[in-house]
Amino acid sequence: MLLPLEVDEVHISVSFTWDIPRAERLMKEWRAVAQVKIGGPGIGMRGENFEPGKYLRPGYTITSRGCNNRCWFCSVWKREGKIRELPMTGGNIVLDDNLLACSDDHIMSVFAMLAKQKHKADFRGGLEAALLKEWHVKCLIDLNCSQIFFAYDTPNDKEPLFEAGRLFKKNGWNMVSQVLRCYVLIGYPRDTFEAAKKRLYDTVRAGFMPYAMLYRNEKGIVDHGWLLFRWYWSSHRLVPSQVRKARIEMKLDPPNIISRQQQTFTFDEETLDKNIEV
Ligand code: SF4
Repeated sequence: MLLPLEVDEVHISVSFTWDIPRAERLMKEWRAVAQVKIGGPGIGMRGENFEPGKYLRPGYTITSRGCNNRCWFCSVWKREGKIRELPMTGGNIVLDDNLLACSDDHIMSVFAMLAKQKHKADFRGGLEAALLKEWHVKCLIDLNCSQIFFAYDTPNDKEPLFEAGRLFKKNGWNMVSQVLRCYVLIGYPRDTFEAAKKRLYDTVRAGFMPYAMLYRNEKGIVDHGWLLFRWYWSSHRLVPSQVRKARIEMKLDPPNIISRQQQTFTFDEETLDKNIEV
């Protein structure tokens, strides 16, 4: 058991801005024990080299930070600046901000590192479909990943997502495997249920299993009118039936895709729901 006397310093890593009050409460509680430091992306702190097991569970890895895009709803480019490659560390769950914006050499090193891991590669950070090349697809197929997330955040993401689906299909990917997944941003200002449903259906049509991400403003406030809609499109129990319904409505074959998906579903709802809990 950890005794307070053994603690020299306490670090609190804040993932999201809306967790700051909780971090401040923790700081007050631990101040009597040792010096407390608060950091992390939630307070706008630029990330440094990644140390496996520090602030994230073992298995997670970050091989690059930053992004060359400037999406209006995202804090990455404000906090981290342009893409920068970090020293390679081990891990099978890749959380890079935009891995495919890295150099080919770096991406190849990441794939090589992942091939040596005990557990299947899991691209949970989200890949940018517009940067996907055929050689990436071949490597991703060889890696036999547990899941590969893309993102459909803005209208510009739609065509690249369809192209990504076509590339996987062309290279012999089993499109019913449910490994290809896609975060779909919903509930931002002026979004509508109808428009969001269209994006989710398009995601299905492109060959991806959608996962709805509910927009939060910088204070972490969500539009509560979207909670039920979000639940239908993010619960691992409900998304398969939503996808089935979408496939039937869009007359996509085979409509029975979901029974196979349910058998192989590897979705880590616990981790993802922590990121979006309201
Ligand atoms: S591409 Fe992704 S990481 Fe880059 S700015 Fe847009 S949302 Fe943020």
